[in-house]
This record gives sequence, C-alpha cells and structure tokens, in this order.
Amino acid sequence: MSSESVKVVVRCRPMNEKEQANKFERVVSVNVKLGQIIVRNPKETLTSSPPTVFTFDSVYSWNSKQIDLYNKTFMPLVNSVLLGFNGTIFAYGQTGTGKTYTMEGLKNDPESRGVIPSAFDHIFKHISRSQNQQYLVRASYLEIYQDEIKDLLSKDQSHRLELSERPDTGVFVKDLSSFVTKSVQEIENVMKVGNQNRSVGATNMNEHSSRSHAIFVITVECSELGVDGENHIRVGKLNLVDLAGSERQAKTGAQGERLKESTKINQSLFALGNVMSALVDDRASHIPYRDSKLTRLLQDSLGGNACTVMVANIGPASYNMEETLTTLRYSNRAKHIKNKPRINDDPKDALLREFQEEIARLKAQLKKRSGEKKKKKKKQRRAGDGSNGEDLGGETEDDDEDGDDNGDYWREQQLKLERERNAIMEDHSLVAEEKVQLLKEIEKKMGDLRTEREAGELIQAKVKAMESKLLVGGENIVDHTNKQQRMLQQRKHEIAEKKDREREMQQQMECRDEETLELKETFTFLQQVVNSKTKKLRKVFTRLQAMKAEIHDIQEAHIKKRQELEQNQNDLTKELKLKHLIIENFIPPEEKSKLDSRVYFDEEDDHWKLKPITPAVHIPTLKLDLPTRTTLDYQAPVVAPALLEALRNALKIDDVMVIDASDCQRPASTISSLKKSKSGRSRAGKRLGSPSSPGPPLYPKCRGLVPK
Ligand code: ADP
Ligand code: MG
Repeated sequence: MSSESVKVVVRCRPMNEKEQANKFERVVSVNVKLGQIIVRNPKETLTSSPPTVFTFDSVYSWNSKQIDLYNKTFMPLVNSVLLGFNGTIFAYGQTGTGKTYTMEGLKNDPESRGVIPSAFDHIFKHISRSQNQQYLVRASYLEIYQDEIKDLLSKDQSHRLELSERPDTGVFVKDLSSFVTKSVQEIENVMKVGNQNRSVGATNMNEHSSRSHAIFVITVECSELGVDGENHIRVGKLNLVDLAGSERQAKTGAQGERLKESTKINQSLFALGNVMSALVDDRASHIPYRDSKLTRLLQDSLGGNACTVMVANIGPASYNMEETLTTLRYSNRAKHIKNKPRINDDPKDALLREFQEEIARLKAQLKKRSGEKKKKKKKQRRAGDGSNGEDLGGETEDDDEDGDDNGDYWREQQLKLERERNAIMEDHSLVAEEKVQLLKEIEKKMGDLRTEREAGELIQAKVKAMESKLLVGGENIVDHTNKQQRMLQQRKHEIAEKKDREREMQQQMECRDEETLELKETFTFLQQVVNSKTKKLRKVFTRLQAMKAEIHDIQEAHIKKRQELEQNQNDLTKELKLKHLIIENFIPPEEKSKLDSRVYFDEEDDHWKLKPITPAVHIPTLKLDLPTRTTLDYQAPVVAPALLEALRNALKIDDVMVIDASDCQRPASTISSLKKSKSGRSRAGKRLGSPSSPGPPLYPKCRGLVPK
C-alpha cells in the first residue's frame, strides 16, 4: 500500500474593513508560485532578523478564488472519495481568518461558494454522468462542543452521542443519524437543518461556532458490476471539518463555566497538535488519539487510511502575527504526516447492499404474489371456459409488477366476489342460515382481497421509494455533453497538476539559485584569499630575487677574495722558497744556528725579532806592521751556465704544486704559522717543515744549489 502525505495548504484572507480603517501593517506575503508564506516581524529590521519563510503544497493569497481552491486542491480529494477512499478536509486557524468562508462560503453568492457546496455539486454531477453504476449518497452532520458529540440532524438536540470502534470500519459515532439524499437540493437542505440546530441554544452564533468543531460527513456508496460478474460496492466517506478557533482561549480571561469551556476547546486542539507531533516523531511509540473525541474521530484522517487536506487559514495583519506564526508552525508539522489511503471495497455495513437486498426481497415477494395471482387466474379461466388449462398465449409473465395489470386483477377479483355475493342474495333456494354463512364467507374473502391488495401496494411503494434513492447516471444528460464535461474536468485537473509541477520546479530553481549564490560567495571568499596569498607570494618572490642577487654578489666577492688570497699565498710561498734557498745555500750552518738561537717571536709586535748579541770581549787594537801587499783583489767567480740553469729551475714555481685553498683561512694561518714555525712553537709550522708531519709539504723540498 503506497503512502501519501497529508496535503497542507495555507490561505491568507484579505485585510478586513476594520484592519484597513486602523491602517494595520501587513506582515504576511504570499508567493503562490513557490508555495511560500513569508512572515516579517515589523519590529525588526531586515538585517537584524530575516523574515520567516514557510513552504507548503499550495498557498493562496487574499486574491484567491474559491473555485481555484476547489479545482486545484479539493477536487482531486473528492474524486478519490468517489472512487471509494475516505477523505478529510479540515480548516484550521484563528477565529475570523476564513475557516467557515473556505468550508461553506457566503450564502447567496455563487462565486463565494465554499468547498462543501462545491463538493455537493461535484458528487451529484459525477453520479449523473456515470454509467452502469448505482450510487447511494447520505449525509450526517455533527458538532463537538466541550468534548461532547451532538447530532445536528437529530430531533432531540439535548442527546449526546458516544464513539465506538469496529475492526473493519474503525471509529464511528454510535446512533448518528444519516439522511439519504438524491440531489444537491436535498443535501443542501440537510446542511441547512443542521446549521439551524447548531445555532439553537447559542446566544451568539459566531462565538459558539468559534468554540465548537463542526463535521459534515458525506458517504458515497457505489455499486458496479465487476469483471467477475458480481456486484461490487465501494464506499467513500468525506469528512468536512470546520474546527474551532485555534487562538489561545485562556488569553480571553474567561472564568467559571467559560473557563471550563475554554479548557475543553483548547484540550481537543491541543490533543490534535499532540497527535500530529507524535505522528511525525519517529521515536513516538504511542499516538494519543484517545485524548479527545476530535482526535479519535479524525484517527483515519491522520496517519490512517484516508486522504487528507488541511487548510490553514491566516490573517495578514500585524496584530495577528503571533497567532499566524503559531498556525503556520502547526501546519508545517502536519505536512510530514503520512497516510496510507485504501479503497473501502465491499464493506459489511454498506447501506447500498442493504438497499439492494431489501429491494430484491420485496420484489421476490411481489413476484410470488403475482405468481399466485396468475395461478388463480388460470384456474378461474379453466373453470370458466372448460379448457384443459393450456395457456395459448404462452407465458406472459411479467417480473415487474405492472400497475395496470394489478389494477385489473384486483378489479376483476372484486367484481367476481360482488357477483358471487349478488348471486347468493338472489338465490331463493338457499335457507336463510346458509345464505348468511355464504355471505359472511364472501365478505371475508373481500376483506382478505383488500388486505392483500394494500400489502402489495405497500411493498410496491417501498420498492419504488428505495429504488428512487439509488442513483444512476446517464438518464437525463446527453452522453456527448457528459463526455465533454468529463474531458473538461480532466483538463482542469491536468492544468492544476501542471501548475503544481511548475511550482515544484520553481522551488527547485530557487534552491539552485540559493546554492549558486552560496557557491559564488565561497568563490569570492576564496578569490580574496588567493589574491592576498598572491600578493604575499609576489613580495616573497621579490625578496627571494633580491637575496639571490645578494648571494650572487657575495659569491663573486668571495671568489675574488679567494683568488687574491691564492695570489698572495703564491707570492709568499715564492718568497719563502727564495729565502729557504738563500739560507740553505748561502748562510753557513754555524751562522744559521747562531741566528736560530737569537731569534724570537714578539707577541706584542707580532714580529720575529733578534735578541741583542752578547757584548763582545774588548780586544785591544794593535798596530801591526803589515807587509806589503802580495795578493790580488777578489774576483767573483764566473758561474758556469749549467749552474745558472739549475738555479733558475730551482727558483721556478713548481707546476704541480697543490695548494689547498678550500679553507679560505688557511693561507693566512699558513703564513702566520710559517712565521711561528721558526721558533718551533707552532704545530702548523712543524707540519710544514718537519719530516714527522703526515701531509704533503706545501712547497717542493729545496734541492740545493750544489749537489751534496
Ligand atoms: P472563521 O470561520 O475562521 O472564524 P470566517 O470564515 O467567519 O472566519 O471569516 C471571517 C470574515 O472574513 C467573514 O466575514 C468572511 O467573509 C471574511 N473572509 C474570510 N476569508 C475571506 C477571503 N478569502 N476572501 C474574502 N473574505 C473572507
Ligand atoms: Mg467560523
């Protein structure tokens, strides 16, 4: 069984004259296309608090026409009732918001006809256009006031009714009267009578109607020959509910009896709210239908097997804002209620079946009577003309009692008895006693005949009356018109459906628009982030470039400096070598050792210095008689070319000399350690010159000028 949600529609009435005169602010706006009601709090600005938005199946503004509401919202529901579903339409809202206007409309104004009279028309039109179907329509009208049920169609208006329950048909009102109605006029009459009874005893009808719930029930039974050759009956029940005003009754400052009344009115609407809440709450294990008569009666309509439409009526003015919001929140909950509509097929209590069976029984009775009559007739005919009883005209049996035939029969019988009576009266051969006896018999027969005739007539009248209540279509209306009207209705329905779809699409588009807006906002935000990051990145990049340039400059300067140091080191090495060569080759070892002993490193001056020479022994100058010179002046030896070459080679910088320049401090330290090495205090000096040093010497070993 498929489920469907309770359909919730909202209708906002126009500003009334009083509201217009007082220049009340309008706080409600209606977006028919999107199915939205927007309530704006006039005390708050648009920025401090956005308006509250509610979305419903359909919404109707103050310009809405009763016929539009009917065609779009109520007609599909009444159609389902005609198919055998139960249906409920209930109007909810604060007093004065248009519940009664929506349900009943204005009298004497066909344009303002509410859903109830429109449904009457719809149902009877449907029946008149039907084919091969038999219908029975009946109506009941009840009121719930202070949680007590009153039958508005009963003669005794002081009587209160009770609720009962049956597993097959559910909750029903025990002994509720219902009237079979054959036409729109009849059912309208029923409603009129009920409304009159409603106002009986009420000092103020408006006040009374705002404090009681009125339920008009139309039951439509339809019988049709099924494919199985059997007659099947479907029963659809339409509940039309005009609820009491939803405003908080306690607020009116009622006391005593009035307070008790208010509490009870509140109770049933409160119970209705609780039932709705429980129905949409997955965790609820119990639905409190039994809390009020109203909720018990509407059990089928809320979470049951009926199709339900709730019309929430609201007012547009600012002073009703709180009540309007309450109604909207209440209705918002209702739209999530799920029902499981089911066709009422062949219910046991179908009145139509009872009617059909009764008619069949009465007809059988009539048939039996007519059979007997015919037998009698035949017998009489045979007795009269002495024939063998063969009916030459064949069987002229007529199932349906023909009025004229019947009349003839009775007249014949009557005449016959009168003739018999006359004959007895005129027969002088009979003794007086015998005559009286025979006349008595004749009188009795005549009496029996009359009773029989009356009984037959009664049955016939009953059959006729019952049959007249069973409605069949296609009698008075031309089929072609019917077809066209059916098509027209179909089209109307299709248009309404299309409008619905359009509205749904518009809602979806609105949602998409919102999503797009959100995305755009996110995009703008991200773009801002990207922009600020790009700015930062650009700054960082410029700094990076500057650093790189700086590093490059530093590297260049470093290379230059290194090259200078290398050059410096080479020069020093060269000089050192030269000095070594000179020392090795031109300074006698004893002089060298003398100098070694005198040399020291002055830390303060950072210089190698020579200690002063120990004071020389005073040698007296003697005048010697020098012989005449016999020697020649010293002539510098002529250096052989080979020796000169060797000397040049020795002074040339060795090509394969490896200088470790990776450590830029090294040349300087090497130089200073070279200086220190003279005193033998520097470890680096030792490494340079001493054979114990593990690394290779930084300059080639002196080869000497003279081979040793
Ligand atoms: P309720 O039954 O909710 O107390 P009524 O149906 O009696 O309210 O409506 C109150 C008044 O407002 C009535 O005079 C009615 O004619 C008028 N009214 C309500 N709804 C509408 C509407 N949609 N268009 C025009 N008049 C309306
Ligand atoms: Mg009302």
